[in-house]
Amino acid sequence: MKQSLWGPLSALYAKIRGQQAPSQSLQISEARWKLALEGSNMGVWDWHLDTDLVYRSDQWHEIFGYSTGEVGATAQDGRTLIHPDDLEQAIQDIKDHLAGKTPIFTSEFRMRCKDGSWKWTLSRGMIVSTDTRGRPLRLIGTHTDISEQKRSEAEMLRLAHYDPITDLPNRILFLDRFEQEIRKAQRHRRSLALMFIDLDRFKEINDTLGHDTGDRLLQESGLRLLECVRATDTVARLGGDEFTILLTNLEDMGHVDRVAQTIIDTIAQPFQFGDEMVYITASIGITLYPHDATGMEILVKNADQAMYAAKNNGRNGYHYFTPSMQAAAFLRMRTANDLRKAVQLGQIQVHYQPIVELATGRVSKAEALVRWAHPERGLVYPGEFIAVAEDTGLITTIGDEVFAQAARQTALWRQAFPGFQMTVNKSPAQFRNNEREQSHWLELLDALGLPGESIVVEITEGLLLDAHAQTIRKLESFHDVGMRIAIDDFGTGYSSLAYLKKFEIDYLKIDQSFTANLHPESDNLAICEAVVVMAHKLGIQVIAEGVETEAQRDLLLKAGCDYAQGFLFSHPLPASEFEGRFFPTR
Ligand code: C2E
Ligand code: CA
Ligand code: CA
Repeated sequence: MKQSLWGPLSALYAKIRGQQAPSQSLQISEARWKLALEGSNMGVWDWHLDTDLVYRSDQWHEIFGYSTGEVGATAQDGRTLIHPDDLEQAIQDIKDHLAGKTPIFTSEFRMRCKDGSWKWTLSRGMIVSTDTRGRPLRLIGTHTDISEQKRSEAEMLRLAHYDPITDLPNRILFLDRFEQEIRKAQRHRRSLALMFIDLDRFKEINDTLGHDTGDRLLQESGLRLLECVRATDTVARLGGDEFTILLTNLEDMGHVDRVAQTIIDTIAQPFQFGDEMVYITASIGITLYPHDATGMEILVKNADQAMYAAKNNGRNGYHYFTPSMQAAAFLRMRTANDLRKAVQLGQIQVHYQPIVELATGRVSKAEALVRWAHPERGLVYPGEFIAVAEDTGLITTIGDEVFAQAARQTALWRQAFPGFQMTVNKSPAQFRNNEREQSHWLELLDALGLPGESIVVEITEGLLLDAHAQTIRKLESFHDVGMRIAIDDFGTGYSSLAYLKKFEIDYLKIDQSFTANLHPESDNLAICEAVVVMAHKLGIQVIAEGVETEAQRDLLLKAGCDYAQGFLFSHPLPASEFEGRFFPTR
């Protein structure tokens, strides 16, 4: 707006300057341009330097709420209305113009209004006449009220630098401050600590309780974090459920531990939202300047890796950066890159481990376990890439591939052994993905002429606990076609009976850790027996994992366990070997 008005104004000035010498014609045109400007929202001023007198238009007075003539007639009188913080710059701007350094005088400052409030004003003007020696005699210019523009500029600045949900500095402002703090620390030879704080399982809460609750949880968490640090430290929200804290002026390193532990404890306190109690924990990664690194980018990476380590350590804790994390992070990155191509290049293979009916010794099921035939690393086991696949979302493609291979294998094996069942692992990350893959699995069964009951999907207890609508829908659609559901690693998680009933679970797989130390009279045996009794009451069958010895098998059989799986019977095998050993008649 002000730019477009400035165009014609400029042209007018040019005209005036072009007619400089004959002062009568100047006077004639004066009436015209004053009239033109009065019609705009600008106030006009006309300053005669020899007398220091200023003509100010009616509109000029109106902007600031004064009646015409109320402001003293000199330029100095006008100057007294300028905000003291802006005065120096305004005077410099006019000096620069008078000295010929700027073609147009431009200055922004606050002016005091009649009612005592301040208005941001844009003043523009130029010399319109000089004496014979070229010294300026007269300036004409305008005042425009730019308060609204200043307000929206401030708002834009706020939006650009602060997170709208928590009002904490956002990534941009955080990095800016971090840079400053590094410079300060360098100058004063001080240490800094950078913390990455991630709320554990926030996504599940957000999905289950809704985004309003999620937002409130973020706000509350932000406030709690602020309470854990000093006023000079910075708390920021980087996005999602990730916060950062910058601890400055560190003298004793014990302080970092104390703050980290306080944060863990504070976040773990229940959040009360209306009738709802929400529980959450935090994982914290910590890196130190200059101990770990001096560059901002590397420090940020370090803190992220340390947080990853804290998460892997079972969450709800903090972890300092160590150089070995860098190597681990590098391997993860390489794995992720290679994994992207693995499916296309046919490197994903499936091995099958027999599941034995304990009472008869018959192999009636097999678990499909993924293997990655890496061109350089050889056969890579899931422990080395499933987590990366989950983090990168590649698990969906890989899971689809495993399912496709396993389903085809099932179709073949069922021709010889009609009741044969294949169990397939499905991680929570796969349930979180879209519906596509779901229908894809069912279509494939259809195409292969496989009944649903030929497939058992292995899920973890955690999935049921955090279950949101999408997960439940997917489980139900499995049930609808007759597919079976097994709880993997049973006993290592929450082991909620209510959930087993609610989700119509078909099998429990007792975790290897229970099978491992199975002796007569051992606690583990008591647990296995109890699980079997309970499961059977609920109409659920039990599969023991990790059976390595005959003694273990015998104890499990005696405990009433239905199936067993483990190295005693066989390691997981490629399909052809599996066939050779367990289906020799084919
Ligand atoms: P899991 O589902 O608990 O699979 C059983 C793991 O125990 C397998 O390891 C298997 O080789 C191993 N195992 C079998 N019998 C014994 C035994 O007697 N003693 C011992 N110590 N171990 C035994 P693997 O193949 O390395 O798989 C590891 C994990 O990777 C699996 O644990 C499963 O959670 C995951 N996984 C494997 N394949 C897939 C897949 O296709 N999709 C997904 N999402 N996860 C998979
Ligand atoms: Ca499994
Ligand atoms: Ca397992």
